[in-house]
Amino acid sequence: MLPAGHHLPRRSEAPPRQALRSRKIGANGKGAGEVTHSPDRYAVTGHPIGHSKSPFIHRWFAAVTGQGIRYDALACPREGFGAVVRRFRAAGGLGMNVTLPFKEEAFALADVRTPRAELAGAVNTLSFRGDGAVHGDNTDGVGLIRDLRDNQAVALAGGCILMVGAGGAARGVLPALLDERPRRLVVVNRSPERATELAARFTGASVEACGFGDLGDTAFDIVINATSGGLSGERAPPVPISALRPGGAAYDMVYAREPTAFLRWSRAAGASVAVDGAGMLVEQGAESFRLWRGVRPPTRQVIGALRAELDRGD
Ligand code: NAP
Repeated sequence: MLPAGHHLPRRSEAPPRQALRSRKIGANGKGAGEVTHSPDRYAVTGHPIGHSKSPFIHRWFAAVTGQGIRYDALACPREGFGAVVRRFRAAGGLGMNVTLPFKEEAFALADVRTPRAELAGAVNTLSFRGDGAVHGDNTDGVGLIRDLRDNQAVALAGGCILMVGAGGAARGVLPALLDERPRRLVVVNRSPERATELAARFTGASVEACGFGDLGDTAFDIVINATSGGLSGERAPPVPISALRPGGAAYDMVYAREPTAFLRWSRAAGASVAVDGAGMLVEQGAESFRLWRGVRPPTRQVIGALRAELDRGD
């Protein structure tokens, strides 16, 4: 349910206008006067950034929580991440989401990092607080868990999980997956040495690593695709069909209008749950919004709105 007094926009790409407008605050602080304050500013940056759905998602969050914020997508040249962050901060920006390929640079730039960001070695959320420090966090793991475990009702505790890919996305979600106490967690990657490197970050937890040719005949309960190879929609990573047990769950961090190649693969493998990463994108954004604004937005309607937006091909 939406909070009282809020309505869903007719067109999902247009959240209620009052949420985007500057707040007018009178001398009595109760909104009757003419003094206009600029809305608090947030942004996402990456390269490329034109495709980003984060502005769409955060404007929805602002609408459903009644928060007067402005959220933009900032283009950033490949070598210009630090300068873009500095400029945005100097202009009064309060927080940024960071996407490909800058999550490691964001990690290095942060003065203070949360334990989950330290474990991931990557930062997707920067907060510029009153203490003058740049705070770095990684909300990808929370986003995946909330979508997979809570929205899709997939049991992770005690499960046998195969993570396909060993890049920034896999690194970002592994700490949260381990917190769920799976029975077994295997990382498989095209470049096996990268999987080995990733597994070695988690001393104390038993994360296994291998290449596609070494998967053997284990049937996993859950297979998660964290590769970027299937973005064109044509090729799934070379995981044998037998790697997903019939009735298991498949999750593709990539999201698209049409079912991705990996989701088509998982249906052929007999998956009972086969979902893409649109829900994760919304959930990781909700966690960023909570860090910045102190309020966790409801996500169900926003996931529906994002799905409708993707279906329209916008
Ligand atoms: P990344 O750091 O560049 O890593 C890419 C991964 O994909 C590596 O493991 C790479 O293997 C593998 N790969 C690339 N092309 C491949 C191919 N043709 N066949 C097999 N493996 C291939 O990227 P990332 O940051 O991890 O992101 C991965 C994906 O997750 C992206 O599509 C991103 O959009 C998505 N993502 C989604 C969300 C969400 O909220 N839904 C959040 C984060 C990321 P090698 O190591 O061998 O190169």
